Amino acid sequence: MSRTILVFFGPPGSGKGTQSDMLSEALGFPVISTGELLRREQKTGSVLGKQAKRIMGQGKLVSETLIDHVLWARLAKGDARNGFMLDGYPRNEQQFKHLLRLLHGDDRLYFIEIEVSDKEVLRRLSGRRVCDCGASYHTYYHPPKKAGRCDLCGSAIHRRADDEPTVIKRRLADYHAWVRPLLEKASGRGSLIYIDGEQSIKSIQAQLRSKLKTYGVGKAVKKKSTKKK
Ligand code: AMP
Repeated sequence: MSRTILVFFGPPGSGKGTQSDMLSEALGFPVISTGELLRREQKTGSVLGKQAKRIMGQGKLVSETLIDHVLWARLAKGDARNGFMLDGYPRNEQQFKHLLRLLHGDDRLYFIEIEVSDKEVLRRLSGRRVCDCGASYHTYYHPPKKAGRCDLCGSAIHRRADDEPTVIKRRLADYHAWVRPLLEKASGRGSLIYIDGEQSIKSIQAQLRSKLKTYGVGKAVKKKSTKKK
């Protein structure tokens, strides 16, 4: 059976996590975020998790062995049978080749780039605060009700080590270095979709869905939800 694979590109803080999560609910495909898988691995306290923590804190890419380990383990779960979304992978040419090797001949592949300027990325990420329970806040756009505390569990919220401004600049430089060449290669293997990421979350999602619909992605879902009503 042909799978639908949506690959999200965008600088850190472009909102690709938010957008892919929203789309996941609508399409029923899981989002596989390599950054999230690595953060989960860190929490297990494993040797690999400790390795990941050190490298991620510096804003560098973790080794291919590490990324393969978390990604293949995740893909082996049955929920990606009909399709899945990738957030944060591939991030270089080697990973892109790995992705192509993983494909079946009839898989439908879409590359989505959410475009956001460097200035906006810095503004967004330097204010981001997270909680160990998974909740995410922003000092300006989405502050918690009680300063410094998570609304959901009450724990102290903190800035991710890789959201420090110097680290953000490094992550941005890395992103710009690999994304263009990769997107050029990607155009030969799937459809490219560009979205202006400096709009409201709702508008971005609406545009994304409408562009995907032009390729026939999401049509079946629309029919289903009409029946339910
Ligand atoms: P993200 O949440 O996608 O911004 O990723 C956070 C960090 O995880 C990155 O800065 C890297 O250190 C690491 N990471 C995530 N995805 C990859 C990947 N595909 N290859 C190597 N390192 C990754």
